[in-house]
Amino acid sequence: MVENVNRQDEFWRKTPIWADTSAKDFLSYRWSVANTVQGTSKLVKFLSAVLPENVPFDNSGSRTQTREELIQDVLDGVTTATMAIRITPYILSRINWEAPRTDPLFRQFLPVRSIMIPDHPNVTLDSLHEEADSPVKGLVHRYPDKALFLPTSVCPTYCMFCTRSYAVGADTDTVTKASLKPTRKRWDEALAHIASQPQLHDIVVSGGDSYYLAPEHLVQIGERLIAMPNIRRFRFASKGLAVAPSRIMDRSDGWVDALIHVSDLARKAGKAMALHTHFNHPNEISWVTRLAGRKLLEAGVTVRNQTVLLRGVNDDVETMSTLIRELADNNIYPYYVYQCDMVKKVEHLRTPLQTILDLEAQIRGSIAGFMMPQFVVDLPGGGGKRLACSFRSYDRETGVSTYLAPAVKGRGKADRVYEYYDPVQ
Ligand code: SF4
Repeated sequence: MVENVNRQDEFWRKTPIWADTSAKDFLSYRWSVANTVQGTSKLVKFLSAVLPENVPFDNSGSRTQTREELIQDVLDGVTTATMAIRITPYILSRINWEAPRTDPLFRQFLPVRSIMIPDHPNVTLDSLHEEADSPVKGLVHRYPDKALFLPTSVCPTYCMFCTRSYAVGADTDTVTKASLKPTRKRWDEALAHIASQPQLHDIVVSGGDSYYLAPEHLVQIGERLIAMPNIRRFRFASKGLAVAPSRIMDRSDGWVDALIHVSDLARKAGKAMALHTHFNHPNEISWVTRLAGRKLLEAGVTVRNQTVLLRGVNDDVETMSTLIRELADNNIYPYYVYQCDMVKKVEHLRTPLQTILDLEAQIRGSIAGFMMPQFVVDLPGGGGKRLACSFRSYDRETGVSTYLAPAVKGRGKADRVYEYYDPVQ
């Protein structure tokens, strides 16, 4: 699928268990699915194989813990976390296993109990009140002209900070997930609601993740949306480009052909389809990502990115600037940077509002305006996305910021004052 891969390009060989894995295998999506680390027993097996005997706590390396101690710390985190374990080989291969505790990808996808801190008292499982704003199960209709369709609850990799931890992935020790199984009946009801609302013009097809829609289902959903006179735009949301990019070039897999087909159909119908993806750190971008981005560009698929601001991952100007520039250079439009939602068990990853305000102030002007993301807060309680800097008040002592969302109506929302709370510590 990718000819002439240079041996020094084979970054996955640095991960001890893939030292002998060929490019043909590593870049095949079938191999990627078969080698995805899912569930605790596979996780323990993987960590036992890749971790050094002594793991440094920080970059100085002066303090270490044993491999077994870190594995136990992660297992304790798994029993606390709201998201199940599933991580693709691509993401695992981008982690520095010599010093994982300071690695920004390890920090995003692996729960470590000893670094977790107690939740803010106001965090909730479904902080955006998606279930309350769903007239049909799996269809969130919050904005007047836009709705979010959730056809599946499965993703190629699970993020600890997922805003949809109430429904996405397998049950965990702490959360029994709301069922969003991909059934024909549920899809028909959601699509019927979309068709019945003339004011709806814009649909996000997410989940879960569109990477877990079979190619024929991607086409079916795309064709049904295109055929609706009220729908002008739609997007498929998928983290796939960030966590398993080689699938985009894998000729034995039909997903990207289906996506390009729907994009072409939409364009011919005078409508717009886009792929929305989710990169959080420059280390997630490799030559494989660049090739995948190039293929989508040449096929005329618009790709936009949504980043979540995470403490210790991307909350400094240099990292965020590099990420935005890398995305822009690969024709992936940096659309949003989100303040981390007030969801459970990720307090150690949340930042105060001031961090996102400072980042925007520092970065604006360093890149063309149309490549500058909007820095937003998705308001707890279902007020929708607001520019972080548009707060009505922000008390830096108490860490409480308030916002209004006059365009988001329903259930007394138009006059409501929404509050976002900085992390307690
Ligand atoms: S890819 Fe998106 S939906 Fe899936 S776990 Fe991550 S944040 Fe949640």
